[in-house]
Amino acid sequence: MSQISEAAIRSVVAEVVAQLQVRGAAAPVITSRPGRHGVFGDAASAAAAARSGFEQLSKKGWAARSKVVDIVKTMCADNADRWGTVEFEETRIGRLDHKIEKLHGIKNVLGTEYLMPTGMSGDSGITMDEAAPFGVVGAILPVTHSVPTMAGNIVNMVAAGNAVVFNPHPGGAACAALAVHEFNEAFKAELGITNLVCTVEKPSLDSFNELCASDDVDLLCITGGPAVVDAAMKAGKRAICAGPGNPPVVIDDCAALDYDKVAGDIIFGGGYDNNLLCIGEKQVFAVGAAYEKSLKSFQKQGALLLNTRQVEAIKKEVFTFRPDDGGCSHPVLNRKYVGASAIKLAAIAGLTIDPKVDMLIAETGADDLLVVEEQMMPLLPIVRCASFEEAVEAAKKSEHGYKHSAMVHTMNVSRMTHMARAMDTTMFVKNGPCVAGLGMGGEGYISFSIATTTGEGITTPRTFTRFRRCTLVDQLNII
Ligand code: NAD
Repeated sequence: MSQISEAAIRSVVAEVVAQLQVRGAAAPVITSRPGRHGVFGDAASAAAAARSGFEQLSKKGWAARSKVVDIVKTMCADNADRWGTVEFEETRIGRLDHKIEKLHGIKNVLGTEYLMPTGMSGDSGITMDEAAPFGVVGAILPVTHSVPTMAGNIVNMVAAGNAVVFNPHPGGAACAALAVHEFNEAFKAELGITNLVCTVEKPSLDSFNELCASDDVDLLCITGGPAVVDAAMKAGKRAICAGPGNPPVVIDDCAALDYDKVAGDIIFGGGYDNNLLCIGEKQVFAVGAAYEKSLKSFQKQGALLLNTRQVEAIKKEVFTFRPDDGGCSHPVLNRKYVGASAIKLAAIAGLTIDPKVDMLIAETGADDLLVVEEQMMPLLPIVRCASFEEAVEAAKKSEHGYKHSAMVHTMNVSRMTHMARAMDTTMFVKNGPCVAGLGMGGEGYISFSIATTTGEGITTPRTFTRFRRCTLVDQLNII
């Protein structure tokens, strides 16, 4: 078994600190102490160590699971500024304030309280239906929220009695290793459990394949785009897939709507972390007179409307075209601009804009690249539609059948229902920003892994359990 050395951990941390200092940012206070603590040089060793973590947890029972959940939630809140800064400095995408806020949001992830067994008692005896752990979950992390997804996964998966081995995105692997290291230090100190959560220090496609093939991994949980979801579905193991989205929002023509609030909601949700959220509003379809009203309200709420020349200049830079095997040309996103700020995008078009601008808006057709591609940038295309039905049809087409998320703003209940049925998405938010669907301004809990492709939905501890029934036959019930 090859674990990475204390020296290697220290060098990752030192490198991050040095980078922060070079860039003039406030250096985070790194509290890592010597030890191995779950960070491994290869996937097989990480998975084998997580197997041992699972066995240790199993012996310590429910109390240990609850304690792990408490530790993770408390550490995310206590370290939000430092971990958020480290992640922001490593990935260079999104917004620091939102990276920090996402870590504070981990307190709203569901833990052990969600796993109530079901009991049945009658003349023939007693039966219990239990939610049992799988064992070791192999989890793949996106670069868009590396540590928040990791922390949320740990809460859900360990509450359910599992250990976890992570293959993070290479672009967010150092912040993930730092958090794994510190979580394990705390688990060891509080519970005496080692390697309950493990990670691969330098993840790659090879380490992903190794995890998929490992006998130590019982279940996969994928959070990412189409390529990794496809790869996992072919891996021959059960996979829970939180796949890509391209969430549309429809704005109805409705006298009772407050268009300033609608625009504010969409700028907040779509602009969150510079549009990195998979649930974030990515394209707008406005019905009839709502089109002009929305354009006006978006600008009133601080969005900047680009002209055609500026939009084309940005598109030319953020998309390139690559021929496929059949000779057709395919748009490819320039990853340099994923999660870029509105300032950076506007600069492509030669504009210097107020740093307070969170969102750029563009008038486009329904087939525009900005509409059909999941571009993850604060540049919102707005499409004019003649009717609500036409808007829903265009919204559905733009979502590509991912069944991820969609939003509507209308006071007409039958139109809400029409769109909800037509879209058939995992999450559907009415009259609020997308984040309301994860409990930020709406009711409910949060998870950073929304299992859209495989249908489990917003993950909970129950997602990571096996149904087991235990039946005791005879007259053993007490009444
Ligand atoms: P990504 O697909 O580029 O990477 C995700 C993970 O998969 C990374 O760990 C990466 O290293 C790995 N990966 C990528 N291609 C792979 C392949 N061919 N084989 C094996 N592993 C591979 O995505 P990203 O940029 O990190 O994240 C953004 C994407 O994830 C968007 O499509 C977004 O919608 C989606 N996402 C979905 C959810 C959800 O809950 N449904 C949450 C966050 C992000």
